[in-house]
Parts: sequence; C-alpha cells; structure tokens
Amino acid sequence: MIIIKNVPAMVCENCSEYTLSEKVTVKIMQIADESVAKRVEIEVLQFAA
Ligand SMILES: [Zn+2]
Repeated sequence: MIIIKNVPAMVCENCSEYTLSEKVTVKIMQIADESVAKRVEIEVLQFAA
C-alpha cells in the first residue's frame, strides 16, 4: 500500500470528477513499482514532480 500526498489532480469543470494527467499517472506507476520492488508494506510519500 502506498499513500502519495499532494498529487496534482485536475477537476473537470463539467462533472467535478478528479482526473490525473498522463505524466502524473506514469510517475505514480513508477513510484508503485519501486515500492513493490522494495517490498514495502506501507509507504507514505510526498508527490514530487
Ligand atoms: Zn467531466
């Protein structure tokens, strides 16, 4: 389980849905892969672009 704080999300003006840019999504996937590789059980991170 990974908790990433301060993730920059965009809110849709039409439906107020939160969406992540492709760049942010890729970054999160990388962070997740690293945590899996390190066998981290719980990790709390600050998002850094
Ligand atoms: Zn929308």
